[in-house]
Amino acid sequence: MYTAAENRYDLMPYRRCGNSGLKLPAISFGLWHNFGDDTPHATKRAMCQTAFDLGITHFDLANNYGPPPGSAETAFGEILKTDFRPYRDELIISSKAGYDMWGGPYGEWGSRKYVIASCDQSLKRMGLDYVDIFYSHRFDPETPLEETMMALDHIVRSGRALYVGISSYGTQRTREAHAILKELGTPCLIHQPSYNILNRWVETDGLKTALKDLGIGSIAFVPLAQGLLTNKYLNGIPAGSRAAQDKSLDPSVVEMAIESVKKLNDIAAARGQTLAQMSIAWVLREGGITSALIGASKPSQIIDCVGAIKNLDFTAAELAAIDAISEE
Ligand code: NDP
Repeated sequence: MYTAAENRYDLMPYRRCGNSGLKLPAISFGLWHNFGDDTPHATKRAMCQTAFDLGITHFDLANNYGPPPGSAETAFGEILKTDFRPYRDELIISSKAGYDMWGGPYGEWGSRKYVIASCDQSLKRMGLDYVDIFYSHRFDPETPLEETMMALDHIVRSGRALYVGISSYGTQRTREAHAILKELGTPCLIHQPSYNILNRWVETDGLKTALKDLGIGSIAFVPLAQGLLTNKYLNGIPAGSRAAQDKSLDPSVVEMAIESVKKLNDIAAARGQTLAQMSIAWVLREGGITSALIGASKPSQIIDCVGAIKNLDFTAAELAAIDAISEE
């Protein structure tokens, strides 16, 4: 029987999500990897418990997380039942629809048919009446944006979700989605883009500025570049790591970036942080984004990452040095 740590709200900062009334933990936890049928349930449980005990109130899922697709939601539904049931009102649970989920023409992208059916399937797998945030996972170039946004609006109005968001939409599409949702009366709460020291498209595309203008919150996925921005690969590719298992991090990407990563590690050490902690702090720095959405394969990684919140400030010289390395 799990009882949440009494001091779970003592350290984690909660940051306002855009212009909304909702606050998100500075660090959120995502279940993309290591929550499928290839990971022991006890490890999944231990990671979720560790996260919540440290004040991580936000758990991010999607229909297709696994493997197989859907199994991460099923596993999380089990954890909700055994561990988190008394804490439902302390949790922000999100899911998404957009990527390939089932066969035929209605199993991916952004049609109303797919988005609403997928949301219903996610709720069923997790055993929930509603999710807190439901996302369009990617922009669909073949479906009118109005249709996808009307599906999100319907999901809120029918009680399936409290808020809606979009993920990986470019700046122009974000502005259009925001305008449509505003007119429908269901504001766009949040955008979920990739963002880290080595991947700054949200800056070059103008998305970060647009989100600020529009009052939309932001949550950065892959803040650790899938583990590359940690001490994990400093001495080669360890067995059991994502790159070793050829999951979604190509070993050649690790090899190409490793010299820069070593230099970043030196800056982190000089700040008294691990590289994971500095990378998260960088995403959350002043003018940064609302929440850093991390993943993990074991509880100790979550403990290390949460240590980032002890120092979120950077000197101008540190920022310039990080910029120079990332441009190499
Ligand atoms: P990260 O960049 O946080 O990478 C997580 C990986 O980094 C872990 O699995 C682990 O690798 C390693 N790691 C984490 N902490 C440490 C540490 N302290 N020390 C050493 N290594 C560490 O993000 P993810 O790629 O996991 O993505 C995070 C979440 O973002 C997802 O779960 C999902 O919710 C969301 N996401 C959203 C997408 C979208 O399209 N909207 C796309 C992708 C992700 P290892 O497993 O090798 O131990």
